[in-house]
Amino acid sequence: MFATLSDRLADTFKNLRGKGRLSEADIDATAREIRIALLEADVALPVVKEFVASVKERARGEEVSGALNPAQQVVKIVHEELVAILGGETRRLRYAKTGPTVIMLAGLQGAGKTTLAGKLALWLKEQGKTPMLVACDLQRPNAVTQLQVNGERVGVPVFAPEPGNGVGDPVAVSRASIEEAKRKLHDVVIIDTAGRLGVDAELMKQAADIRDAVQPDEVLFVVDAMIGQDAVSTAQAFLDGVGYDGVVLTKLDGDARGGAALSIASITGKPVMFASAGEKATDFDLFHPDRMASRILDMGDMLTLIEQAEKTFDQEQALKAAQKLSGQGGEFTLDDFLQQMQQVRKLGSMSKIMGMLPGMGQFREQLENFDEREIDRIEAIIRSMTPAERDNPKMIDGSRRARIARGSGRQVSDVNQLVDRFFEARKMMMQMAKGGGMPGMPGMPG
Ligand code: GDP
Repeated sequence: MFATLSDRLADTFKNLRGKGRLSEADIDATAREIRIALLEADVALPVVKEFVASVKERARGEEVSGALNPAQQVVKIVHEELVAILGGETRRLRYAKTGPTVIMLAGLQGAGKTTLAGKLALWLKEQGKTPMLVACDLQRPNAVTQLQVNGERVGVPVFAPEPGNGVGDPVAVSRASIEEAKRKLHDVVIIDTAGRLGVDAELMKQAADIRDAVQPDEVLFVVDAMIGQDAVSTAQAFLDGVGYDGVVLTKLDGDARGGAALSIASITGKPVMFASAGEKATDFDLFHPDRMASRILDMGDMLTLIEQAEKTFDQEQALKAAQKLSGQGGEFTLDDFLQQMQQVRKLGSMSKIMGMLPGMGQFREQLENFDEREIDRIEAIIRSMTPAERDNPKMIDGSRRARIARGSGRQVSDVNQLVDRFFEARKMMMQMAKGGGMPGMPGMPG
């Protein structure tokens, strides 16, 4: 979503590389470039102005650090300012102290509310909650059915008016749903409300009536990040008409410029709480301003990667591999390599994973064009080796290479390349495991 902005900012920082001290002219030029980058990304003008002024002031000020050179210092300042405009700290859901927690969703039609309701329900289930979905969008044909389908997909019950009685009363439905939740011991109620294609008074009134009837613990404004500057004006209209506690950004997987998404928190003063980036029920998570800022600045998003890894990795296997790499528990073999590769694959496509590593922005094009079948080819080559060869790759001589190539349907040169790369990678990983850390600091110019 923020690819262009990332690239522009990276270019800006590149120009500062190698400077021992930043002159007034350097700071002015940098500020100008940041301003253009943000405006081109569709960030709202008042937000851009404040952002740039703040960066300028801080870059000029005496924020000297022994550890960072001036260019790195600017990256740090921009990072901190990005975190600030995105709402600062991660804001978590507030749960009711007694009775069910009521979460109400509001937003325009097509914003992704119904899809989000299912995602949020699944997320809550994973946190050990017993949510119930409530269909209060009685305007849009199919909205109730769509919510029921989403609910079924994630195994969460849906409370909806009986079909066939014409138009129901959404306020009455919302009220009844709370009673139902209490009876059935659901601890969270998610209310999906109607949206219109544009902001209108009737829509606002209905949402406000539902809000008054159920007294939600959280009202979440759901907004499509791809609608550009309109997102900001819609956010403002809902703030005035219904009011809300937090924002949910949807469709962050799109390739729109996305700057509007960066402006909403600062313009409305309401934090972005969740981000939704795809059609799958699991493409959804808490929004972390600091991680998003790191991604935009191509400093990677190691925390998200680590969290995902913790969810999917076989801990014991990972520990064994780590021990081997740090020189204990035998040598790291091609079998370990294969196992690690399979673990990593569970996290998602290679391009998605690599994209979360720092300094990968410059390889974006290659990543997007990365042929996932390459991994299958590597697997095929390793599988054509004997257990002894995998244990001790040094024994793989010329005739063995020819046999392995034949067995996997590849060229000898592919086998050569794989074996060479394995030794190289093992050496590098062992250096890192010994506490040397990442060689250099990618993403940070200088
Ligand atoms: P509602 O009218 O607000 O309830 O919106 P829907 O939930 O029906 O979503 C509108 C359209 O956007 C549907 O086609 C969804 O599949 C799609 N959609 C929702 N969330 C996302 C997302 O995060 N990414 C993408 N690419 N599409 C989404």
